[in-house]
Amino acid sequence: MRRIGLVSTIAVFLLSTGLCWSWGPESHELITSKAISILPKELKTFYELNSRYIVPMSNLPDDWRETYKAQVGPEHYIDLDLLDAPPFKKLVTDRASAEKRFGRQKLLEAGMLPWTIAERYEKLVRAMRKTDTVEIVVQSAILAHYVGDAHVPFHNTKYYDGKTPKQKGIHFRWEENLASLALRRLDVRPVKPQQIRNVLKSAFGWCISSYKLVDAILAADDEARSIDPNHGFKYYQSLQRKTGSILAGRLKSASEALGGLYVAAWKEAGKPNLPAKHAPLFWGH
Ligand SMILES: [Zn+2]
Repeated sequence: MRRIGLVSTIAVFLLSTGLCWSWGPESHELITSKAISILPKELKTFYELNSRYIVPMSNLPDDWRETYKAQVGPEHYIDLDLLDAPPFKKLVTDRASAEKRFGRQKLLEAGMLPWTIAERYEKLVRAMRKTDTVEIVVQSAILAHYVGDAHVPFHNTKYYDGKTPKQKGIHFRWEENLASLALRRLDVRPVKPQQIRNVLKSAFGWCISSYKLVDAILAADDEARSIDPNHGFKYYQSLQRKTGSILAGRLKSASEALGGLYVAAWKEAGKPNLPAKHAPLFWGH
């Protein structure tokens, strides 16, 4: 019974999501709500009161991507291995220098994720400086999305959908299907916000940590496929057994990174008093 239930869950899920590459909505929402749960009290009241907006709106950038793929697609990933070789000691992290070295077109091909995080962070700092609560809510949500993406291994490599023809589809199977199926059973317990001194450096660091996990997931995919070549119940059971802890670890790190960015933005803005009320997200209609 349970087995039939799970298989049909997979089928319904596949039909309902279509092919869109990113953490599923549940994972982005989990990262965002866990980040809020570990904030210090000066931020927590405001963020908790507005989590009803911030948490679901963390999926907004994926909606934009559906409509404006050419313009905003590269914001969601960075293929580090197009810009340097592991262990990425020679990565050019300054955007202007990177553009000069690789050219704008190649950079767009490789992706813009860490720079997008840094830009969104600056927007959050500006919103905090003005204590513009609507803008704080919006920018916090958007920032959450990209920090989440940086923690998906397959958003950081040119092998974003496997290295061999048989691995094709692993991107979607791991970040959407496995995450969605495993989420309720995963123990994701962030401890405290990360200390962030340099946002861009941290963002590249998150991407590199994600990259390092790609081979382990691909090996787990090969093993799971040898048990169940049709990607059914036994495939996902095996994939979860082998990579469930990677998944939980990525979600935990993403929450701690995001919490760290909220705290860093608040400090950089001069520790404004965030009001203990809902942001007026009401446009009069
Ligand atoms: Zn995304």
